Amino acid sequence: MKKFILLSIMFFSIVSCQNTTDETNTSTKKDPTNEHLLMSTVWFQNSAEMRAIYYQSYNLAKMIVNNSVSKLDKNEKKAVVLDIDETVLDNSPFQVKCIKTGQSYSTKTWKEWTSLSQAKALPGAVDFTNYAKNKGVEVFYISNRLEEELGVTMKNMKELNFPCVDSAHFLLKTTESGKKIRRVVVKKDYNIILFIGDNLTDYSEIYEKRDENFAIDIVDKNKGDFGTKFIILPNPMYGEWEKAIYDNTYKLSKEVKNKKLKNCLLGY
Ligand SMILES: [Mg+2]
Repeated sequence: MKKFILLSIMFFSIVSCQNTTDETNTSTKKDPTNEHLLMSTVWFQNSAEMRAIYYQSYNLAKMIVNNSVSKLDKNEKKAVVLDIDETVLDNSPFQVKCIKTGQSYSTKTWKEWTSLSQAKALPGAVDFTNYAKNKGVEVFYISNRLEEELGVTMKNMKELNFPCVDSAHFLLKTTESGKKIRRVVVKKDYNIILFIGDNLTDYSEIYEKRDENFAIDIVDKNKGDFGTKFIILPNPMYGEWEKAIYDNTYKLSKEVKNKKLKNCLLGY
């Protein structure tokens, strides 16, 4: 009997040790490097406030279109310019993949997502773009998706019933990320009455280079533009704002990036 008790204690001790080791291994194996995306992605996908902000923005966009159409010459060619990602299409499932797998954004990982043509429309985007088109306002999409993604992007947006889904209305990225030249192309023939995007650079090149002030001062100087010439949409998951925190380069280790995220916080 004594021998049985002793053997039992030894067995349970071994099992108990095994579990502790497994738990330790699991916690060290788990890649926590994209945990910083968790809260913002949860907010983007699940908060009613997020939906409300998109509806609010596109409602305002309709008012601006109405106002412009009633004021401007009927014969003048008018246009609205929209960004695509996180403006009309919801790519938050890509962020979820990054959180779950620890993968980062790269041309390869991004294309795996866009090639599915499965992004959903953001709240109010289909309604607004069709509204503008029906008012005689052309809809252009200036996006930093690559030209080779044109087919899968148009397929995605056609299925969602966006208007102006043809190559003439899509100005995707060729050589440079800056959108100034592409804006000029549309401006040649159209009076652009409104820009909509989730990034300030969707509106103006003055936001392309951000110093230690993160362009906050430039926004303050140009506060009259927002909600009149440009509607900015919320994207807490990624953007030029994040790049500015990383000294305008993504080529830093995740550890350094996480440090910089914490260092930029203003406490009390
Ligand atoms: Mg965007």
